[in-house]
Amino acid sequence: MRIEIVAVGSELVTPDFMDTNSLRLTAGLNDIGLGVAFKTVVGDKDRDLASALRTALARADLVLCMGGLGPTEDDRTRETLARVLRRRLVFRASIREKIRERFRRRGWPMAASNLKQCYVIAGAEVLDNPNGTAPGQWVETRHNRIALLPGPPHEILPMFEKDVLPRLKGLGRGLSARRVIRLTGLGESAMEMRLKPVYARTPSGVTVTTLAVPGDLSIRLTYTGAGPAAAAEARLDELEAAVERAVGPWIYSRDGRGLEEVVGGLLRERGLTIACAESCTGGLIGHRLTEVPGSSDYFLESAVTYSNRAKTKRLGVPAALIERCGAVSAPVARAMALGIRRTSGADIGLAVTGVAGPGGGTARKPVGLVYIAVAGGRGAAVERCSFAGGRSYVKFQSSQKALDLVRKSLRPRPAKAL
Ligand code: ATP
Ligand code: MG
Repeated sequence: MRIEIVAVGSELVTPDFMDTNSLRLTAGLNDIGLGVAFKTVVGDKDRDLASALRTALARADLVLCMGGLGPTEDDRTRETLARVLRRRLVFRASIREKIRERFRRRGWPMAASNLKQCYVIAGAEVLDNPNGTAPGQWVETRHNRIALLPGPPHEILPMFEKDVLPRLKGLGRGLSARRVIRLTGLGESAMEMRLKPVYARTPSGVTVTTLAVPGDLSIRLTYTGAGPAAAAEARLDELEAAVERAVGPWIYSRDGRGLEEVVGGLLRERGLTIACAESCTGGLIGHRLTEVPGSSDYFLESAVTYSNRAKTKRLGVPAALIERCGAVSAPVARAMALGIRRTSGADIGLAVTGVAGPGGGTARKPVGLVYIAVAGGRGAAVERCSFAGGRSYVKFQSSQKALDLVRKSLRPRPAKAL
């Protein structure tokens, strides 16, 4: 069974909007053991849309088409699909009554432009839309099953759950189990090299996929097949053990959780608090830590001490030290970590200072050079890092490395003296 998702909308082929619906649809399909073969994003010009639909119908068995069911002139998906299928559009008075009723509840008359939403492709089933005016449609032909769905996420997602997924159950290969293992501190190609033996002995029904951004890698293990859930989990356990042997030292999460959540969990478990002094990360670490609900239990503050003056005034870093070693240096990172720990009263002080670029680099201190310090009851440890990539990548990787150093310091047997 080959599946194609077609996202329709001229805004989706601009730099301003992303097709995010397809991610949610794909997750729902994966949960019942179905995979997506193709995704197409197309503007709503008739010719392009017709071409995209013809291609999809020729190469996929199931086509999920979304967007462009609205009342405006440029919403043409319904009409174009009907033409491609060579089917008539049939007026349904019952849809008109539903739309009228929606407007009546708001005290408005129904606009004439909404009339086009009352047309249904001949032979299609109507999918009720309690969250908008355009109903969805389910069409079956000799070769294809087609769902025609509205674009707005709050309309399509409930409709997909309620009316599309139930029609697809039984078409997939059944049970699906998934595990997401996350890593940091390892490059993508190094990970791939190490995973070779894992790929070689992947049991049938299991797929291994990897995803990488600088500083963060994910390995997804997915099992699809018939049989009891326990058997699926056992296969994933076996494969996870192989992944562990290959890349164990870099794993920070075995359940898909992000690093900020893992660190937060460890802090809470130990009953410890943290405060940060951030220079080149500009508050990113504080932002990430506070993205986790309940972080007030362990996160005290993050001071964005960007200027030398702030480092001295806020953290008590001696001006002479900055003068002598430079703001981007191991001694200043250490003094920042000790300073934020002392002034905040936190158990752990975390500090970052570096050259995020694109300017500001020198031969001795190039762009991407970052010092990270973690201070605890027994002093501070400093790490010198050099990151590649543009400004935002350097910032992200710095935050990732900083959180990972905290994580390592909180492990049962701390590697660093804290
Ligand atoms: P209406 O025009 O009546 O709102 P519609 O079915 O014509 O409904 P679209 O015009 O395609 O829907 O999309 C309406 C809005 O929904 C878009 O502006 C966009 O914000 C959002 N949207 C559409 N398609 C997607 C998509 N694939 N992923 C995420 N958001 C989407
Ligand atoms: Mg529209």
